[in-house]
Amino acid sequence: MTDLMVRTLDGSNKKIPPDVMAALRGELRGSVALPGEDGYDAARTIWNAMVDRRPGLVVRCLGAADVMHAVKLARKEKLLVAVRGGGHNVAGNAVCDNGLLIDLSLMKSVRVDPASGTARVEPGATLADFDKETQAFGLATPLGINSTTGVAGLTLGGGFGWTTRKFGLTVDNLISADLVTADGELVRASEKEHSDLFWALRGGGGNFGVVTSFEFKLHALGPEVLSGLIVHPFENAAELLRGFRRLANEAPDELTTWAVMRKAPPLPFLPAEWHGKEVLIFAACYSGDVKEGEKATKALRSLGKPIVDVISLHPFIGWQAAFDPLLSSGARNYWKSHDFADLPDAAIKVIVDAVRGLPSPECEVFIAHVGGAMARVAANATAWANRDAHFVMNAHTRWRDKAQDSACIAWARQLFDATAPFASGSVYVNFMPNDEDNRIEKAYGSNYRRLGEIKRRYDPDNLFRMNQNIQPAK
Ligand SMILES: Cc1cc2nc3c(=O)[nH]c(=O)nc-3n(C[C@H](O)[C@H](O)[C@H](O)COP(=O)(O)OP(=O)(O)OC[C@H]3O[C@@H](n4cnc5c(N)ncnc54)[C@H](O)[C@@H]3O)c2cc1C
Repeated sequence: MTDLMVRTLDGSNKKIPPDVMAALRGELRGSVALPGEDGYDAARTIWNAMVDRRPGLVVRCLGAADVMHAVKLARKEKLLVAVRGGGHNVAGNAVCDNGLLIDLSLMKSVRVDPASGTARVEPGATLADFDKETQAFGLATPLGINSTTGVAGLTLGGGFGWTTRKFGLTVDNLISADLVTADGELVRASEKEHSDLFWALRGGGGNFGVVTSFEFKLHALGPEVLSGLIVHPFENAAELLRGFRRLANEAPDELTTWAVMRKAPPLPFLPAEWHGKEVLIFAACYSGDVKEGEKATKALRSLGKPIVDVISLHPFIGWQAAFDPLLSSGARNYWKSHDFADLPDAAIKVIVDAVRGLPSPECEVFIAHVGGAMARVAANATAWANRDAHFVMNAHTRWRDKAQDSACIAWARQLFDATAPFASGSVYVNFMPNDEDNRIEKAYGSNYRRLGEIKRRYDPDNLFRMNQNIQPAK
């Protein structure tokens, strides 16, 4: 039998003796997958096809006990550790080369308690898993816009989507989390227990341990919401974006609109002559009474002369998955993102010019309108500091052919640099690619120092470092 070699925290490779592996296999309810074994490729394959890493060893967990065994092994042998939830993060930190991968993707249970309006969710659940269970009771909590995203990574980074302006960030709706800390013990973090850790988990990413269960507050919503797309010719983009900015300043919390600029996909409701041409799409959702929603969306629907307007009542579950076909896994992706307090005309001009030169048919730039309930929480109330962001721009570069890597990445960086003078300086940790180490402190903003202190207390050796990493305070 060949020796199993696994990467350690100092970058060297360490032999894991057969008796240690046999003991681990015996302890687990889930399984171990070594290169070539069943489940190995499924665990290491993530959304962003740019990331093709080969862990030395995968522990496919089925419960908190499995996570504890994996973390104890990693700690004892000082192994490099990656933690995979839904595997969607663009930076690819869910997988490491040669180290130990703690794969949570099989832990998908979502248990709703309609009486208390809460849900307990395991860390392998996707947004679709969450919505399908909660919507059976007409309940929801704010999540993102692509239903195959993992609840775990989205929540730990903060989480925002169609209902955030009404109900806050995903972390504003987190009641508690069970997590395995770097010493391999399971603790519960909430306002009452390990409250410092609970604070840090709400935006501090995967820095503090491995979450094995999330408890969320739910809100009445659906089963249908007023939502849909308004598709415009791109030639009027600058004027439309100025209108979008004005209406964003006046919008009620219930109304969320994102402006998406890209080459038109072959949507069935879009006349064929527009397919492949640049368009500006307003994607809008009203989280409230339909009649009020019709009034609130009137001004948006009166902007310009759209090619098509398909805003109507849609099942909330369907709307949450509306962008899935454009965001499926397997493509190469590189993102650059800015937060904006405002969108001055000069920024609009730069963005519109960039979209005229999209480097591939699947690239897009979106501008999400945030704020509302999210902005009414103090910046130091949770680890998510950037509550004054009013718009979030993401240059979402996406292509298939490796030969296009440098052209697509260069395009995103160019747009990022050209819009930097207008941006607020902060960024959402979950939108950062893997080459932005110089932005990490800015991403955690005014909360970075406290996060470092909590990191020192719970993970002084920085075992959990495959993330937008917070250094333990000295
Ligand atoms: C197509 C697409 C659309 C998106 N849209 C939105 C959106 O609308 N709103 C939004 O807020 N975000 C959005 N995101 C970003 C998304 O929130 C992040 O990619 C998030 O990290 C995904 O979580 P995951 O569990 O799938 O990721 P993974 O890649 O599995 O995990 C990301 C990181 O989180 C940590 N982690 C994961 N699980 C755990 C755990 N249980 N315990 C401890 N650490 C853990 C690890 O550090 C890991 O590297 C989108 C992403 C994609 C790809």
